Amino acid sequence: MMDATQHTRGLQLVKRIYPPRSVGFFLGAISVASVLYEQHASPGSWLMIAFSGLVWPHLAYWRACRSSNPYAAEKQNQHLDAAQCGFWIVMIGFNLLPATMGIAMLGMVLLSLGGKDRCLIGMLTYTLTAVVTWLLSDIPLQLQSSLETQLASVPVLLFYPLLIGYSAYRFALASNEQRKQLEVVSRTDGLSGLYNRQHWEQHVAEAYTRGQGEQHAYSLIMLDIDYFKQVNDRFGHSAGDDVIRQVARLLEECFQPDACLGRYGGDEFGILLPNCNAAEALMRAEAARQHVFTHFHSQSPATISLGIAELDTDTTSEDHSDWILHADLALYQAKRQGRNCAVCYSQMADAPLPPGPEIRLQNTRPAPRGQIAG
Ligand code: GH3
Ligand code: MG
Repeated sequence: MMDATQHTRGLQLVKRIYPPRSVGFFLGAISVASVLYEQHASPGSWLMIAFSGLVWPHLAYWRACRSSNPYAAEKQNQHLDAAQCGFWIVMIGFNLLPATMGIAMLGMVLLSLGGKDRCLIGMLTYTLTAVVTWLLSDIPLQLQSSLETQLASVPVLLFYPLLIGYSAYRFALASNEQRKQLEVVSRTDGLSGLYNRQHWEQHVAEAYTRGQGEQHAYSLIMLDIDYFKQVNDRFGHSAGDDVIRQVARLLEECFQPDACLGRYGGDEFGILLPNCNAAEALMRAEAARQHVFTHFHSQSPATISLGIAELDTDTTSEDHSDWILHADLALYQAKRQGRNCAVCYSQMADAPLPPGPEIRLQNTRPAPRGQIAG
C-alpha cells in the first residue's frame, strides 16, 4: 500500500528526470537522424525516431504522473529509455559517435538516479534489446561517423552534461535544505518550540565540561508549572497544551537571547544560563516567576515553581546529571514551600528538607535521587 509521502517522493523523482530526459532524447534524436539520413532510412524509422525524440519523454512523464505509484512507473520508464537506446544503436549500424554518446548518457542518468545497481540493470536491458534488434534486423555495420553526424552530435555533447551537472547541483541544494530542516526538527520540542530534552541536555553537558576549566559561572534553572494536572482536568488537554506553549513564549521573553531553553518533559522546563552565578540566576528566576504570574493572573491562573543550581566547579561527579539533580531538588523544595516561588540549591543544601508527603502524591515523575519521600 503506497502512502502519501512515497507518492510525493515518486512524483518529485519524475519531475526531476523530466527535463534531462526531454533534452537528452531530443538532441540524441538529432544525432541519430543524421545517420538515418545517410542510410536513406524508411519512413517507419523516421516515424520511430520522431517518437523517441519528440513524444516519448512527455509520454513517460504523463504516464508516471498519472500512475498510482509514480516511482515504479518511473523505473519502468528508465527500462524503456534503455531499450530505446539499445534499439537505436543497432539501427544506426553501431555508428561510433552516437552509439558511444548514447551509452554514456544512459549510464550517466542511471548512475545519478540509482547508483551502480540501477545502472547495471539498465545496461542489461540495453544490451538485451540491442541483441534482439540485431538478430531481427539486417542493418549493416557503419562504425565511422561522418562530419555531418559529428556536427549533429555537438549539441548533445555540449548541453547534456551541463544539464545533468546543473540538475545534480539543484538536487544537492534541495537535499542540503532538507537535512537542515531535519536537524531543526530533531532538536526541537514539537509543542513548545523550545529545544527537546535530549538536545538541551547536550548543551548542559557541554557547559558542564567547559565550566570546569573556566572562570565564568553557569547556572541551571529547572521549573515546573504548578498544579498543571488541574488545568488539564478543568479546561481540557488542549487548553493545557496552550498553557505549555504560552509559558514557553514567556520564558523566551525573560531569558533569551543569552539562555538555552528546553522542555524537560511534561510541564517541566530547563534553562541554562551562561555567565550567571546563583544570585543573578535567582533574580532572573524571580522575574520570570512574576512575569508568568502577571500574564496568567486574569486568565486561568497558572504559576510556576523554580529551582536554581550554580555549576559547582569543585564537584567530583563525572557528568552533568548531579547538576540537574541539584536544580531539581531546589525545585522540589520550592514546591514544598507552597509553589509559585524560586529556591536556590546553595541556600538549601545544608538545611534539611521540610516534610512534604504531598510532593510524592502530586508528581507523577520519579523523585530525584536524594529526595526525602514522605
Ligand atoms: P505540581 O504543582 O506538583 O507540579 O502539580 P502538577 O499537577 O503540575 O503535577 P505534575 O507536574 O506531576 O503534572 C504534570 C502533568 O502534566 C501530568 C500530565 O497529565 C500533564 N502533561 C504532561 N505532558 C503534557 C502535555 O504535553 N500536554 C498537556 N496538556 N498535559 C501534559
Ligand atoms: Mg507541575
